[in-house]
Amino acid sequence: MITLRNYIDGAFCAPANGRHLDNIEPATGEVYSLIPDSGADDVAAAVAAAKKAYPSWSALTAAERSKHLMRVANRIEERLEELAAAESRDNGKPLKLARSVDIPRARDNFAFYATAILHDWSETHDMGTHGFNYTLRRPIGVAACISPWNLPLYLFSWKIAPALAAGNTVVAKPSEVTPYTAYLLSEILHEVGFPAGVLNIVHGTGPGVGEPLVTHPDVPMISFTGGTATGARINTLAAPSFKKLSLELGGKNPNVIFADCDFEAMLRTTLQSSFANQGQICLCGSRILVERPIYDRFVAEFTARVAALKVGLPSDPETQVGAVVSAPHRDKILNYIALAQQEGGRIECGGHPVDVDGAPNGYFVAPTVITGLPMSCRTNQEEIFGPVVTVMPFDTEEEALALANATKYGLAATLWTSNLQRAHRVAHELEAGIVWINSWLVRDLRTPFGGVKQSGLGREGGFEALRFFTEPKNVFVKL
Ligand code: NDP
Repeated sequence: MITLRNYIDGAFCAPANGRHLDNIEPATGEVYSLIPDSGADDVAAAVAAAKKAYPSWSALTAAERSKHLMRVANRIEERLEELAAAESRDNGKPLKLARSVDIPRARDNFAFYATAILHDWSETHDMGTHGFNYTLRRPIGVAACISPWNLPLYLFSWKIAPALAAGNTVVAKPSEVTPYTAYLLSEILHEVGFPAGVLNIVHGTGPGVGEPLVTHPDVPMISFTGGTATGARINTLAAPSFKKLSLELGGKNPNVIFADCDFEAMLRTTLQSSFANQGQICLCGSRILVERPIYDRFVAEFTARVAALKVGLPSDPETQVGAVVSAPHRDKILNYIALAQQEGGRIECGGHPVDVDGAPNGYFVAPTVITGLPMSCRTNQEEIFGPVVTVMPFDTEEEALALANATKYGLAATLWTSNLQRAHRVAHELEAGIVWINSWLVRDLRTPFGGVKQSGLGREGGFEALRFFTEPKNVFVKL
């Protein structure tokens, strides 16, 4: 049994209270490691270390910080196989997904911001012979970075890398459900000689670690990715001290399919946008809206392909759908499927747990397609965050837009059409921070990322993240 450690001020340490939590492997249901059940004392030590390290880290040139971050990126690449296996075991996701997406992307996050800071610039505003203004972008201090379990190292590094690149120091909390690759990242920091105290990693629960961190008086900014309810709680906790907040929250994303689309390309991608990572990606399209002329064909062909997806052990190269992350999460998904039936939904395929050979206690759920529900029902309004999609027909573009926009969320949307004008028109009207036309999850790290309505506050990605993690200071010079 491995016992993970916090990483504070460049050293591995047990939690001050000596307590640990079980870490369970979703594919087997077995405890395979212990993680620190840290508390306010550990958070205080981590913030103190980050505060102490801030003057020297923020005084480094961009080129010097860049070198440190590139060393981390390169070491992630060298340890890719080991990190991918750890991510797959900890989260239940197919190994091939962790190997091809999660870990390469974690490496890219560090490499992207290591180089982005070399190309950042400051603005000047010329006032002719009176003088001119220039704008300094200064780091802020100690950043709190809190991330969820669905894309563990990928989202952890998505926050940490720009915070550090901009010159801040960091105290980061990974999800208690998937702590393992964050722990391996602390090993990597140690191996590459990352300066002590610049990045501190504290394991534990939301109430135990998250809350003392976001309320700590020496933490002026918080970057959080997770559920909308948790985001609201953090927003409330942070408000009295006017902390800077970036909140990346939940979604209930529409996938709008017009009859004139490239049907085969749409079908292939819709399988992905519905069930990649067991549907546990905030960007998955969980509400599929299909124009009436192709509705019946879509339901028949889509359902046939979904039913053929292989649910299996994460380590099996043939597996397309792995285990969902935990027993409570599996139960939540199954409860939503039961609710959908009570609400009058018809289960076209799936709708039940799956017994996978060799893993009798694993948390496997069959990919599920549900039809016959109105947009107003709870199944269509609440985030399920599992391998469950609903399909609904529409008759006009106006109706499609009204249905697509009819939730409190506004993270991402996908639309399929070969009509160029309609594509742009609909993209313009969709209430979402990100729209994919004839595609899904094509990411360019330079672009703004985030949601509208209750899917979030602010934007990360590219220079948006460097803007978030700095404060502008205008200086006027009289000539
Ligand atoms: P949670 O909101 O439950 O948790 C996210 C993180 O916050 C975890 O590290 C969690 O710790 C911590 N946390 C929990 N309670 C508190 C608290 N009171 N104060 C401070 N921190 C706290 O989300 P999940 O981990 O369940 O992740 C799934 C959610 O994340 C979905 O809603 C999904 O849509 C969203 N998400 C959004 C993305 C986006 O970019 N918009 C991307 C990916 C996911 P612990 O795990 O220990 O409870």
